[in-house]
Amino acid sequence: MYQSKSFSQTRWRLTGWYAGVMGVILSLGGFVFYEMICQSRWGSLHQELTSVSGTLHDGLEPVLKHPGHLESGADQLLPGLCMATARCSTKGSDRHILGAVQQAGYYVRFLDLSGKPIATLDPQPDGLPIRVGSELWQTLNDQQGKRYHQISLLLKTSNQSPWGYMQIGRSLQEYDEYLTTLRVMLLVGIPFAMLLISGASWGLAGLAMQPVYQSYRQVQQFTADAAHELRTPLAATRATVESVLDLETISEAESRSTLQTVARQNLRLSQLVQDLLLLSRLDIQRQSLTKLCDLKTLIYDVMDEFEALAVAADIQLAANIQTQQPLSVLGEEEQLYRLVANLVGNAIHYTPKGGQVWIKLDRDDHHALIRVQDTGIGISPQEQARIFERFYRVNSDRSRATGGSGLGLAIAMAIARSHHGTIQVQSQLEHGSTFTVKLPIA
Ligand code: ADP
Repeated sequence: MYQSKSFSQTRWRLTGWYAGVMGVILSLGGFVFYEMICQSRWGSLHQELTSVSGTLHDGLEPVLKHPGHLESGADQLLPGLCMATARCSTKGSDRHILGAVQQAGYYVRFLDLSGKPIATLDPQPDGLPIRVGSELWQTLNDQQGKRYHQISLLLKTSNQSPWGYMQIGRSLQEYDEYLTTLRVMLLVGIPFAMLLISGASWGLAGLAMQPVYQSYRQVQQFTADAAHELRTPLAATRATVESVLDLETISEAESRSTLQTVARQNLRLSQLVQDLLLLSRLDIQRQSLTKLCDLKTLIYDVMDEFEALAVAADIQLAANIQTQQPLSVLGEEEQLYRLVANLVGNAIHYTPKGGQVWIKLDRDDHHALIRVQDTGIGISPQEQARIFERFYRVNSDRSRATGGSGLGLAIAMAIARSHHGTIQVQSQLEHGSTFTVKLPIA
């Protein structure tokens, strides 16, 4: 798409940056999401065990009389409790008063102060190590490596002496499986999302660079056109000077003619450079329009300047001022003069002998309207869209013969825009053209 290597590289670089930044944000987001899920699951697991153990603790402590000995009252609170000294079925009871410990994966065990089992509420995990001490929360592995999380509470007898430990725990299998699934989803999902993001970034980088690329192409085209325009008078000057230098002697008439050619080409070059400077100034600067400019006077001045040219070209030039009062706009008089002069100059250049050119001044509610109308050669609809481009000439040979560089209408448009105005063209081939300049009235 882009012919320039640096644009392709920039597009790749932009895509890389977009994708990189999005990737970091996505990974961070994924990590935070994963952590939040972990915390919330872990929190509800703790809450469940805390609430079950709290209820049992409050129910049991009043019935505990002797350390390490479970009284018959406990049996009523936890039906199915199996004393360490008795043989019990591993089926467990189906009449627990605490719903949570009925669920699969839960276990309860009572230990004396040295960690020896007193009683259990089966089923117990196989080979789960016994750990007693001050640690409230413990995470343990059974023989098969399955993880369990338990709360270990020190119980006291009714006369406040230490009785032993009550440990209530549950399997972490479901928790671990859930988190593993989540991790897999994130590990697969994030790279997949990254792929989509990279594709989208490539498209977005292309979109973002399009206006830049267009301006770059315009600047390239402009530079090439400007160089081309400058080359012609320079080449003409060099050829003239070289042809004279080749002569052994030079007459006064020859040197005068040479100097005249050099002066003519120099004038053309200066005009071109001035036009380019004006265009770049109009492009860069935002003008503060503070001075009032009377359009009637301006049009009469333009008429005066072009009268002789029109007579020489056998063209009838007339002004048609439709308003009685003075009509003023805010702006640079010199520039507005240039705008109208460019249009009138073109109208005369592109109108054959015996034709007519009118300069009309009118107004609507908020705008002054300057119309430059001619009965000239006209402009085809396709060309009308392009004539305001810099260095564009409808027929370059014909225009060059008139001395035009293709900057006249571009300058007129730039001036109109810098005065918050517009220029429109209506034209029909072989019938003539009307250029309408619309400027806000001061
Ligand atoms: P140039 O210096 O060649 O006149 P302009 O920018 O003033 O450049 O105009 C661009 C082109 O628009 C010209 O080459 C000419 O073909 C066309 N054009 C401008 N004004 C008229 C007009 N009044 N009638 C017909 N063609 C015109």
